[in-house]
Amino acid sequence: MVELLSPATLLDLRTLAGTGRIIAGGTDLIVQMRSGRNETHLIDITNIEDAPPAAIIRSGVAELSAMASITKVVDELNGRLPGIAAAAQVFASLQIRNRATIGGNLANASPAGDMIPPLVAAEAYAVVDGPSGQRRIPVDELITGPGRTVLEPNEWLSLVGVPLFEGEEGFIKLGGRTAMAISIVSLAWRWHRSDHGALTGVRIALGAVAPTVVRAHKAEAILEGQQPTADVVMAATDALQTEISPIGDVRASAGYRQAVAGGLLRQALATS
Ligand SMILES: Cc1cc2nc3c(=O)[nH]c(=O)nc-3n(C[C@H](O)[C@H](O)[C@H](O)COP(=O)(O)OP(=O)(O)OC[C@H]3O[C@@H](n4cnc5c(N)ncnc54)[C@H](O)[C@@H]3O)c2cc1C
Repeated sequence: MVELLSPATLLDLRTLAGTGRIIAGGTDLIVQMRSGRNETHLIDITNIEDAPPAAIIRSGVAELSAMASITKVVDELNGRLPGIAAAAQVFASLQIRNRATIGGNLANASPAGDMIPPLVAAEAYAVVDGPSGQRRIPVDELITGPGRTVLEPNEWLSLVGVPLFEGEEGFIKLGGRTAMAISIVSLAWRWHRSDHGALTGVRIALGAVAPTVVRAHKAEAILEGQQPTADVVMAATDALQTEISPIGDVRASAGYRQAVAGGLLRQALATS
């Protein structure tokens, strides 16, 4: 028997937080409960009257609700943050995107979570709310391992703040098929490209190649200020492959993930 609590306001949520497990879209949690995860009290955060709007722009930052469906967030962005939009486009199916939230994707803390690489590449921050108020955490410090975050049991993710960007940004993933597939490897990027083709402000994040989504700092440093000539791309790809530590599992071997990660970087450099 599971008791479902449905706070109507953020104040109600503050009172209830910690007395049960938060459920948003339920697209991870219900699947896990059907596989044996035991939860006796669920706190539904999808009907909160004063929840943050799906997306608003404030002084150079897009604040995205962690509690709204991915569909609503991307609709509201209306073409801004193409890296987030690209990740949403290949995320599950429309039915799942209509339920699933960015907060759920982050809190579930899968290394293959598709909304996480574009947030890490954008150096986004999460706003964590709880009975004692709000705190901000860089998204790349929020997740500490598969299924683990720094959230306290009585805290929830309220927003993510994503710096707006005028350069190129995107997201690509390789799954076992083109739709409804968990990422075998994913890659998100942001960089500026000058008229001469030199890249600056290079940020690259990879999913499913380590216990958490990771930045490819060595590859970024090699590409920074350079035109992506064949030699530069090869050096960056080699560096990227040394700074990831993929595992082999039912979806792909470690070596395959290593090779795909390099291929995705080459694809991003060629297509964006
Ligand atoms: C058929 C199918 C296809 C899928 N495809 C993809 C895919 O392509 N890419 C991908 O990344 N994922 C995929 N998923 C996984 C899932 O849809 C995502 O991880 C989704 O973002 C989870 O969000 P949710 O709102 O449904 O979370 P829920 O299932 O409601 O919650 C997941 C976890 O997060 C916690 N939580 C939820 N919201 C918050 C919050 N605001 N603050 C704190 N904790 C919170 C819950 O307590 C729970 O532990 C798929 C799932 C299914 C069933």
